[in-house]
Amino acid sequence: MKISHIEHIGIAVPNLEEAIKYYENALGLKCYKKEVVEDQKVTTAFFQVGDTKIELLEATSPESTIAKFIEKNGGRGGMHHLAFAVEDGVAEALAEAEDKGIKLIDKAPRKGADGLNIAFLHPKSTEAVLTELCEDPAKK
Ligand code: ZN
Repeated sequence: MKISHIEHIGIAVPNLEEAIKYYENALGLKCYKKEVVEDQKVTTAFFQVGDTKIELLEATSPESTIAKFIEKNGGRGGMHHLAFAVEDGVAEALAEAEDKGIKLIDKAPRKGADGLNIAFLHPKSTEAVLTELCEDPAKK
């Protein structure tokens, strides 16, 4: 696979509005988009930092993986996943990863937030960091 850059860093937060205040007021970043992703039971908020985005994730349901992550983390948020932009496409990258014996969470690309096609690799195979692969279909 051909990774061009870190597309975003996903950060789980217990309270999205409080978290946005920190990123805007303390760091001077601007939230350019908020989006509910029904599929993942989260509300996301995005900040652009150079080529990379910060993706804040707040659970919309106790069954959300983000709610479970925060519960395991003693009610606190924290870094949740690392997302790479792949130039040769997510489907191709998944096939290659599977060939190399990497455990996949998603067997096929699906729709993520901010218009991206995404897929997750399993942290058991990725040195314990939940890893997302992304492509922007608008840039293909
Ligand atoms: Zn993500």
